[in-house]
Amino acid sequence: MAYGTGIAKGMSLTLKSMFKPVATVQYPEEVRAVPVYARTNLLWFEERCTGCSTCAQACPDGCILVATSQDAEGRRNIDRYEIDFRICMYCGLCTEACPYEAIQPGGPLDDAVYQFEEMYRDKHSLTNVAQRFLSGHENTYPNGMKAPSPEADFHRL
Ligand code: SF4
Ligand code: SF4
Repeated sequence: MAYGTGIAKGMSLTLKSMFKPVATVQYPEEVRAVPVYARTNLLWFEERCTGCSTCAQACPDGCILVATSQDAEGRRNIDRYEIDFRICMYCGLCTEACPYEAIQPGGPLDDAVYQFEEMYRDKHSLTNVAQRFLSGHENTYPNGMKAPSPEADFHRL
């Protein structure tokens, strides 16, 4: 092999890749859109939830807790809705089981925590995350449906 062939080959590869479209983004300044059915963090939308517990029954890890009670008019109140992300394996079975799409994949990727316990999310913390998601996505759920406006009386859609 003639002297310098390897260098020429290497340089030609370098030159070729210099003109290819860039495959990376400048995270965190630039954030790629998360595909709708990516198995990311779960989002729970209280206004869609009936408290039926189907998601909790479908979860193989037992990480969802739902506690309900009935009010004087016989309506079901969701007293507790909690997800233990410490043991969640992001399999998405709960999202597939929910008849009302009240729990959906598509949540934020940048929610790392310093304390492991913070990965246990109660109703309040799940609602905060869901509301933040909606306000950053033109009030649209990950599945593409429009959410009711925050002013609307949206309980039990
Ligand atoms: S994604 Fe899977 S492991 Fe996590 S809460 Fe849903 S069913 Fe359970
Ligand atoms: S998230 Fe869906 S499956 Fe789970 S309790 Fe609410 S409505 Fe039922």
